[in-house]
Amino acid sequence: MDEFKLIHHYFATAGCARGGESIALGIGDDCALLQPSPNHQLAISTDSLVETVHFPVQADPALLAQRALAVNLSDLAAMGAEPLGFTLALTLPSADQQWLTAFAEGLNQAALQHAISLIGGDTTRGPLSLTLTVLGQVPVGQALVRSGAQVGDLLCVSGVLGAANLALPWVLQPSTAESAQTKQLLTAYWQPQPQLALGRALRQRATAALDISDGLLADAGHLAKASGVGLVIDAHLVPCVVDLPLAQALPAALTGGDDYHLVFTLPPQHLAIIQSAFPNVRAIGQVVAGAGVELINFAAATDVKMQPGYTHF
Ligand code: ADP
Ligand code: MG
Repeated sequence: MDEFKLIHHYFATAGCARGGESIALGIGDDCALLQPSPNHQLAISTDSLVETVHFPVQADPALLAQRALAVNLSDLAAMGAEPLGFTLALTLPSADQQWLTAFAEGLNQAALQHAISLIGGDTTRGPLSLTLTVLGQVPVGQALVRSGAQVGDLLCVSGVLGAANLALPWVLQPSTAESAQTKQLLTAYWQPQPQLALGRALRQRATAALDISDGLLADAGHLAKASGVGLVIDAHLVPCVVDLPLAQALPAALTGGDDYHLVFTLPPQHLAIIQSAFPNVRAIGQVVAGAGVELINFAAATDVKMQPGYTHF
């Protein structure tokens, strides 16, 4: 199968490539053309997934596609943006039809679920890697940036943290005899749920936000630095995986970076309305004058060694 047949068969004719209201021209020309709504800004983000760096060899292609799209959509969620379209730069060692069929199906399903259109890409031969660029839109002035946190705001997270991190042993060494709990952890890893609806609800309410990709402590540190404030996190309030010893679940929640939940700062008067629509949201601490992230009440599990957030270099 040549490059053009491959693009046509697996991508250009996929349901998610049909386009929508905002896609004036999709796959097939030199560029796609997007028509954002009036008074909106484009939100754009790129993430790459490279075999052996971000996922193991022999990873399930459908899950890989879903994780790749979810990780990118999470960045749109963290800006309060609504998805418009995405491009897919795919580098493949060979045109394996079975692999491509499963990959394209997984991608299509996730894209339709989150109402985002595949609008273009590039297809080349080489070691397996995927680079997605997502485009979204947000009303002018309403994007959730990292730099707006104010002293007195609550620090909140969008749900239980650490599940995807706790799945890593099984991600790296899949087994056929997984327990129900392991299956749940693996779902958190392979199919994270980008918090798009919450991101939109936080417009004009949250003062700062980002998605947790490096771990809560590390990403809260990025928010603190960008906003020029300090953050206090109460370890007792951090929602972590139940049914596991706290000494295992809490460090994963604090430093594991694979859940793609949101961490955000919220003036206290908005908490009740946000929690009424998003009951998994938890206040875990506060914005204070100063710098850096202070963790309090970690005593219960202090004999556990903490790893800092992941960095590539
Ligand atoms: P060009 O030479 O102009 O870069 P290509 O031959 O690479 O165009 O691609 C032809 C069309 O197919 C373009 O519209 C491009 O965006 C799209 N395309 C290529 N690869 C992919 C892919 N993996 N997924 C979706 N669209 C793709
Ligand atoms: Mg090209």
